[in-house]
Amino acid sequence: MMSKRGQLVIYSGPSGVGKGTLLAPLLGPDSGLVLSVSATTRSPREGEIDGVHYHFISRESFEQMIADGEMLEYTQYNGNYYGTPKRFVEQQRDAGFDVILEIEVDGAMQVSKLCPDALMIFIMPPSFGELRRRLVDRGTETPAQREGRLTAAVREIACAPRYDFVIVNDELSTARQQLLSAISAGRTLPRFQQNKIEEVLKDAQTSHD
Ligand code: 5GP
Repeated sequence: MMSKRGQLVIYSGPSGVGKGTLLAPLLGPDSGLVLSVSATTRSPREGEIDGVHYHFISRESFEQMIADGEMLEYTQYNGNYYGTPKRFVEQQRDAGFDVILEIEVDGAMQVSKLCPDALMIFIMPPSFGELRRRLVDRGTETPAQREGRLTAAVREIACAPRYDFVIVNDELSTARQQLLSAISAGRTLPRFQQNKIEEVLKDAQTSHD
């Protein structure tokens, strides 16, 4: 059992920016980092596995979880619910793991209000044209759905200044290195060190030769 409670890492960026690809190699049994599996009412894309990529659930089940207070945050995005089940996040943090929430900006703002010490990282595309190209290449959305996601992207990118770190996902290995550095640097932000600061100041009152 690790002694320190894990930190919460909010990880956002517009659809198609490559958040999953960037993050995947950083997860793993020895990384100390786990990804929270969200619940959603959208249908699985080809290759997506229930319980791994998302918990794919019905609107009724989702609304029941909201009513039962089981969601840390939730939102509606392009006509579907997306939310973070609270229990898993708490269990993992208590066990000392850092937990990554890959969520859009509305959810991110809800979590940062509830957990002001959460670390916030935003992934930016190198340009809007490149974001559009990546979404087209991915080919998982209809043109209308894609336009919806690009409209949401503008709003999301406008929220980037509210994050602690903004990483441009141009060259993959550089962006991945920056993501690792940001997670590590996050532990040294004053708001994570509040207990340590208080502890040392308290010690100063009683310490003498
Ligand atoms: P997608 O349908 O492409 O998997 O996800 C659409 C958007 O919903 C992405 O920006 C993704 O980060 C976000 N998202 C995924 N899970 C959650 C969640 O649990 N809560 C919130 N607020 N957003 C989520």
